[in-house]
Amino acid sequence: MTDPRRRLPGVDRLLASPEVADLLDLYPRDRVVTELRREIDEERARVTVAPAPEAPDFPEMAERFARDIGARLSRLRQPSLRPVVNATGVILHTNLGRAPLAPEAVEAMVRLTAGYSNLEFSLEEGTRGSRYDHARELLSDLTGAEDALVVNNAAGALVLALAALAGERGVVVSRGELIEIGGGFRLPEVIAAAGVPMLEVGTTNRTRIEDYAEGTLGHGTGAPAEQGHTEQRHSAQVPATQEATPAQRHPAGGGALLKVHRSNFRMVGFTEEAALTDLVALGEESGLPVVYDLGSGLMVDPVLLGLPPEPTVRESVATGADLVLFSGDKLLGGPQAGIVVGRAPAVALLRRHPLCRALRVDGATLAALEATLGLHLDPAQAMARIPVLRMIAERASEVEGRAQSVVRGLPSGGEWQVEVVRMEGRIGGGTFPEHPVPSAGIRFQGGDVEHLARALRGGTPPVVGRVAKDALLLDLRTVLPDELPLLEKALQAALVGA
Ligand SMILES: *Cc1c(COP(=O)(O)O)cnc(C)c1O
Repeated sequence: MTDPRRRLPGVDRLLASPEVADLLDLYPRDRVVTELRREIDEERARVTVAPAPEAPDFPEMAERFARDIGARLSRLRQPSLRPVVNATGVILHTNLGRAPLAPEAVEAMVRLTAGYSNLEFSLEEGTRGSRYDHARELLSDLTGAEDALVVNNAAGALVLALAALAGERGVVVSRGELIEIGGGFRLPEVIAAAGVPMLEVGTTNRTRIEDYAEGTLGHGTGAPAEQGHTEQRHSAQVPATQEATPAQRHPAGGGALLKVHRSNFRMVGFTEEAALTDLVALGEESGLPVVYDLGSGLMVDPVLLGLPPEPTVRESVATGADLVLFSGDKLLGGPQAGIVVGRAPAVALLRRHPLCRALRVDGATLAALEATLGLHLDPAQAMARIPVLRMIAERASEVEGRAQSVVRGLPSGGEWQVEVVRMEGRIGGGTFPEHPVPSAGIRFQGGDVEHLARALRGGTPPVVGRVAKDALLLDLRTVLPDELPLLEKALQAALVGA
């Protein structure tokens, strides 16, 4: 018996076969040759392990190689990142890209990035400008802050704020606010990554303003200081001069006070927390800047959205905190960004810090952000045009009407019971954890639910719903109006396949 490896065809012979020749119409020759060599090598490895008794059938092999190569090359050409129909009912779904943008923001982004721009150019002076000037005035106007800075995301904004304001002296933070937001955002780790010592104060369930006060003196790192001793150490360490700089007055204390909004959970029972206003007063007294990580960046009155009370950005700024940080792609409804607003000297320190360069925002994001902020100048327009706000405010009965129109377009009969039902959605994005959003959508029961869910995820566009017990639920609140015909088509295809 001859060595089966000898019987493998060469690249030239394969290139001449009609199946492989078809690939040359679609892909560069070098690519196809590389792929053929790979196929031949793999085949050689296969027949070495398990020698075939018969000589391979050349046309069969050429066809198999061509099919594999075609599938691989076409997969490489298809982007991995694609639009998806969100039928989960979770409005700010971080895994699905958080906030869909308003048409105005999309247009601004496309217009700006197709050509050159004045990203870092002053059109007035004809000289170098700053990218950080672009959304500045709008943000100040909308939030009442003296100054503003936009960076890559809110986690980055926090790292920058702490590095620039607290530095080696550390940040004073309550043990009840050492939170995890999800997606790898664990506050202690973010603080550590900023290279800033963490001076924990209070307990998990109760932190008083006095605890912060001790933290500013460097007593907040563990052993509870007795009340009486605090005064003594205070007088021993602190020269009682009016002119002393904060650094002199607090040689062992923190460099900044941090308050974190507990976005994604609530504490009940025997709890206590210091109000932001008290922290601001303490900050003024001790000369330490106060940083407030607000998270969601609500710009409109929560009542308009039917939401429970939640501090808006403007209210947070009005407390006098030095910096308020929030995300661009949560309740603001814009692109991914970390937005810093607050007192001018503090914002200026951030703008000058070397980390700012590492966290810098790109022009496309700034364009989308400016357009989104422009809509926020008129709350009614913001509610009508920004998808996230429109979705939050939409009545369940309207959502139900859309579900009904989709169901009418579906084939009847078969194994599936298809019904329009009321269901509960969520705001998501780590906001309003206990506030379900009454919604409506389509329920599929009676068939292989996992199989149908997989078929929908594999469609074009992919549709992502929610599997609950023996049903697949598609919440129509988070399906954009433009996507309804696509959803209908995807459902028709998946129901035939499933
Ligand atoms: C969401 C959130 C963050 C992180 O924001 P990103 O923009 O995702 O980096 C930080 N802090 C709080 C309180 C948040 O809710």
